[in-house]
Amino acid sequence: MPTPPFWHPSLSRTQAFLACARGLFVGLGISSASWAKPVTIDSTHYHLWTTAPGSRSSEALHTAEILHRSWKQWTGALPDSLPHKHQLRLFASRAEMRKALPGLGWAEALYHQGICDQYDDPSAELPWHWLVHEATHQLAWEDSHLPLPRWANEGLACLFSVSRIRKNRLILGSVERETYPTWWLVQKPLSGKMERDLRVGLLVSPSRILSESDDIDIAASLNSHYLSWWSMAHFFHATDSNAWRDWVLHDATKNGLIRRFGPAQTLDQRWYKHVLELRDSVVGR
Ligand SMILES: [Zn+2]
Repeated sequence: MPTPPFWHPSLSRTQAFLACARGLFVGLGISSASWAKPVTIDSTHYHLWTTAPGSRSSEALHTAEILHRSWKQWTGALPDSLPHKHQLRLFASRAEMRKALPGLGWAEALYHQGICDQYDDPSAELPWHWLVHEATHQLAWEDSHLPLPRWANEGLACLFSVSRIRKNRLILGSVERETYPTWWLVQKPLSGKMERDLRVGLLVSPSRILSESDDIDIAASLNSHYLSWWSMAHFFHATDSNAWRDWVLHDATKNGLIRRFGPAQTLDQRWYKHVLELRDSVVGR
């Protein structure tokens, strides 16, 4: 299997502006760090290496299976006769993961070389949203082979990972407040004036994002980019979920996007209105 075009770090809420990590992570083989006795656990579609407590590991696997089911339904993929087991690693703590995987930099979770790595954090309200983010990248690449531009790849992963999970079902398009990058909508004081918010760097406009190359360095605007990537995906999904899905699965081009969601001249304004609605839906909840 070819190497994914990117690896996809997730960012902690405390680490706002840090270097782009592409190519930073050298040698993903686990070092000789000491950790609690690892065990492996299998579910229907996942193989989990874990040093976290059994109940937490089961919770992580359960969440991954919910995502898997949601992804298959969303993409319309036929059930696998011999399911390929996706590789997950769950470390008992952030410190343990950082010790085991030197070179992580600011990444809080990642998908790389066919493995999703994350750590357990029992104090977090929604610790598995990182896993859902990375595992969405994994499904998009390994199962659906989607050649998405970076903004759409990240936006799609965020669209799934911020979604609520209720009664063992992921409700795509819903929004949990305590997820990345949603919490930036609460923390960043949007003014209600798009030009001002773009000028001061709170957001990046879709027209600019659609003209950016995938390998530009976004270190100085990391969270603004993630917020904009996610809100673009959310805007397109909310505007016409069928057209958005069709674009993601079959026609992930700029022209294809404008054809479905044009006109281009008003895209920024329509997206910004949606961002404000998103903010209002989570602020004060
Ligand atoms: Zn990502």
